[in-house]
Amino acid sequence: MKFAQVTGHEQLKERLRKNIDEGRVSHAQLFAGNHGWGTLQLALAYVQYLHCPNRTNGEPCGVCPSCVQMQSLTHPDVHFIYPTIKPKGSSTPPTSDLYIEQWREVVGENDACFDEHAWYEAIGADNAQGLITAKEADEIIRKLSYKAFEGKWKSVVIWAPEKMHPNCTNALLKILEEPWENTVFILISEHPETLLDTIISRCQSVNVGRIEQDALRSYATRSLGATEEQADVVAKLADGSLLTLRRVVAEGSDGSATDNFELFTRLMRLSYSNKHLDLFEWAEQVAAMGRENQKSFLEYSLRLIRESYMLTAGMESVSYLWGDEKAFCSKFAPFVANHNVEAIVAEIERALRDVGQNGNAKIVFTHFALAMSKLIAMRG
Ligand SMILES: [Zn+2]
Repeated sequence: MKFAQVTGHEQLKERLRKNIDEGRVSHAQLFAGNHGWGTLQLALAYVQYLHCPNRTNGEPCGVCPSCVQMQSLTHPDVHFIYPTIKPKGSSTPPTSDLYIEQWREVVGENDACFDEHAWYEAIGADNAQGLITAKEADEIIRKLSYKAFEGKWKSVVIWAPEKMHPNCTNALLKILEEPWENTVFILISEHPETLLDTIISRCQSVNVGRIEQDALRSYATRSLGATEEQADVVAKLADGSLLTLRRVVAEGSDGSATDNFELFTRLMRLSYSNKHLDLFEWAEQVAAMGRENQKSFLEYSLRLIRESYMLTAGMESVSYLWGDEKAFCSKFAPFVANHNVEAIVAEIERALRDVGQNGNAKIVFTHFALAMSKLIAMRG
């Protein structure tokens, strides 16, 4: 991956390439930030640039053997470590090599930007927590003991190091204490606060922040087919994350936002007209639609309630609404105000929690519909 393919982060890219250009390559670096902020993209561009013998204009050349191997994640001197699970029926602890095909696929399909959930799905982990096993540390040491095959550098990229088994952490710590020559470790972590202080203190930290709105906006039009107007809004909603951006755009086009909007507006209309029988019917419909859809609906409702409240509070300029949502919320906004907004939010959050804990959906949503109806009908 070239730096130009990394979404946003122009200043950080400049710093990273300058470090390499000026020969300041720290042997351990911690790229910290949400996966959606493009930490892995940056790390891949950095490593490709480091290994390329023909760097030009701040970019790896893209055509030399090193670059070609880097782009297909087959470079013999670049090792990837990530959480794995033990395959069914296997008795030996797994290492990353076992899942290298899936890794190449997931990185390729997602432009090197995906979360752990997507990774676990790709390796068939269901809800199983992945682990970077103790055996992985032996593998790292074995691989690093070879001379570099191609050039000067060897790199080890550890994705989600917070999933390291304690024995693996200890082995890594030993390696970092006595750095190997021309060997670079890149740790990519969403939760650096859960890593050992002794690991953190041995790494140069590369704090990756949110992706700039401008960069997300142009990604939305260029790669996701959004119109200029849509791109403005989705870039705001994405909150600096490429993953959220993709999700918001997908929701807009697969109709789930439309379904949620319909359910939400119907609930609100029934609520202020106090139609109890229809409310029960509404609750039954929602109860039948499956846990993931219920969560998606509740999260969507939370957003519209907050947006409506902002309109009531006269904060239209920070509101992220457009189209039908904006039209509805503008009319509906007076019903969400200081006297009830907190209670409404609490009800939605309670329903979210109950759904998450496998509560009986019919009971959860009947209660929810009645509670909402009471709160919406309340006058300030
Ligand atoms: Zn090259």
